[in-house]
Amino acid sequence: MPRLFSAIEIPESVAERLILLRSGLSGARWIDPDNYHLTLRFIGDVDGATARDFTLALSEIVAAPFELRLNGLGSFGGGKPRAIFAGIAPSDGLDTLRRANERAARDGGLPPEGRNFKPHVTLARLRGARPDAVAAYLERQGGIAAETFTVSRFVLYSSRNSVGGGPYVVEAAYPLEN
Ligand code: ATP
Ligand code: MG
Repeated sequence: MPRLFSAIEIPESVAERLILLRSGLSGARWIDPDNYHLTLRFIGDVDGATARDFTLALSEIVAAPFELRLNGLGSFGGGKPRAIFAGIAPSDGLDTLRRANERAARDGGLPPEGRNFKPHVTLARLRGARPDAVAAYLERQGGIAAETFTVSRFVLYSSRNSVGGGPYVVEAAYPLEN
């Protein structure tokens, strides 16, 4: 069964800036820059019919291109930090596209997304990183991530069946047009 999620790709110019952040934190497994992405809707492992329905619903989305801005760094996991991410500044265009992706998932027969949407680009997975070391890293590096880019398409990615993780494969791409 394919494991799928829809996402926005991170342009190479932005990835080049994010690469500068890949050091100085022990316990971090830095994500390969080729795998940087912003998840719109995680689908998970689904059967072929569900995958087809979701893909079809995605192809019917009509939305305009928009700008996104990276907005500092943060961590997930609180006192047991498990990931470092670059945040994304609030964006109406992104909200619209995310809602359209949620509708497409429902049209594909998937249950509603229960989690709050927190747009981000994961930069590292953490194992056993100390919270104070994470805080120091964020303090040191946080100013760097402030890049703007234009989103003119989104994609359907597959990750490794069941287990997840990269390399992610672009299964389909959906242009955004005015
Ligand atoms: P790994 O789990 O091996 O670290 P991964 O999380 O990148 O890799 P997947 O588990 O296939 O790979 O997830 C693909 C994308 O969907 C990632 O951006 C991940 O953060 C996101 N994601 C995974 N599970 C969920 C979920 N339950 N809800 C929302 N987003 C999710
Ligand atoms: Mg995962």
